Amino acid sequence: LQITGSVEPRIAEAIRSELTDQRNSLKLIASENYASIPTLLTMGNWLSDKYAEGTIGHRFYAGCQNVDTVESVAAEHARALFGAEYAYAQPHSGIDANLTAFWAILAHRVEQPALAELGKKNVNELDEDAWETLRKTFGEQRMLGMSLDAGGHLTHGFRPNISGKMFHQRSYGTDPETQLLDYDKVAAMAKEFKPLVLIAGYSAYPRRVNFAKMREIADSVGATFMVDMAHFAGLVAGKVFTGDEDPVPHAHVVTTTTHKSLRGPRGGLVLATEEYAPSVDRGCPLVLGGPLSNMMAAKAVALAEARTADFRTYAQQVADNAKSFAESLSRRGAKLVTGGTDNHLVLLDVSGFGLTGRQGESALLDAGVVTNRNAVPNDPNGAWYTSGVRLGTPALTSRGFGPDDFDAVADMIVDVLSNTTPVTASTGKPGKAKYTLAEGVAEKTKARSAEL
Ligand code: PLP
Repeated sequence: LQITGSVEPRIAEAIRSELTDQRNSLKLIASENYASIPTLLTMGNWLSDKYAEGTIGHRFYAGCQNVDTVESVAAEHARALFGAEYAYAQPHSGIDANLTAFWAILAHRVEQPALAELGKKNVNELDEDAWETLRKTFGEQRMLGMSLDAGGHLTHGFRPNISGKMFHQRSYGTDPETQLLDYDKVAAMAKEFKPLVLIAGYSAYPRRVNFAKMREIADSVGATFMVDMAHFAGLVAGKVFTGDEDPVPHAHVVTTTTHKSLRGPRGGLVLATEEYAPSVDRGCPLVLGGPLSNMMAAKAVALAEARTADFRTYAQQVADNAKSFAESLSRRGAKLVTGGTDNHLVLLDVSGFGLTGRQGESALLDAGVVTNRNAVPNDPNGAWYTSGVRLGTPALTSRGFGPDDFDAVADMIVDVLSNTTPVTASTGKPGKAKYTLAEGVAEKTKARSAEL
């Protein structure tokens, strides 16, 4: 940092402040974690300077032998860790991994059959008319994914994201009573909508998914089954999710981020069956440019760490902590979506405290508890103010927290939310953003969390 500071002191200071902030707060954002020092240090090195467009052993640049090693080792660890037939380590993020997967599926399911029918090897051989017809066909494809308010992700076909502009999309929600996935309903929707891609995976659903059942549904309508395990990849890697709950044996294509419960550097990864592998392997130049070789190196280090017995212990602890955290919150009267959790996250419905998610998130932040507001199923406050606060255990479990610590955190959260009052808007109704937190609560919470 001294070296950085000698060039741009404000950046060195921001880095120092970030460390201080992370040390002085309780990190409960379900998508965040603490990468190991070996992983962090592997991100900053000379691999960053090398261009290596293409794929392993087949690059558009000379001198890529070290990048080939890095990418091969990352893919080898990913295949071994997840039991996948093929792994692609180039995507820079989760959104890039999904974009790579979508276009690989379109290449495999739409482009290649069209080329075969016309007796052509690649798109450059098509005349203008044939190319226009194929381009239109890409835009006619359908995707079925989980709705945003049930916990799905923007990249699963929603309009503000490129996936929603590429695909005709419909989404499945959860049962209004139990708030759990209703597989019969998903099957009925699939039968009627006939998607090319059925996508499972979530950012805010606090339960496990039966991927074997979802694959059956996909097969029944000839859909490609894709799973975005960005959030729970650590639980798959740590063998907490096995059998029907492990997406890898059931999906044609699996995408993930590497920085959430998997505890690696920021980045993405695509796993695929042999059948889909050649299409995914063309992620560059399909949707990606030159790979970030330093980040692929850090992914390799983190994936090697995730193959250890220690990581399995960690992953089990993440799930155990979430379960007891949910129980601790419920015992204190908090309302939880689905009534609890069996993965790494808890979705707290703060309407029980008379608050919006925005007010809950802000009051907790004042008290040094870092969370994010999140919609709950059929949220009356929409996606901006929301009625929920999402809480995850991966980061604090990395700090060594156990059930007793999470019990104390639950106590602090309920204390803060019970002492938060919405400020009445000029309309006379409770406002959705402003609030007051009773005096002394923030300081008391910060002092308690410093003891953990
Ligand atoms: N997929 C899911 C399920 C996610 O939760 C997220 C991030 O929150 C992403 C994809 C996108 O990941 P990234 O932020 O790395 O692009």
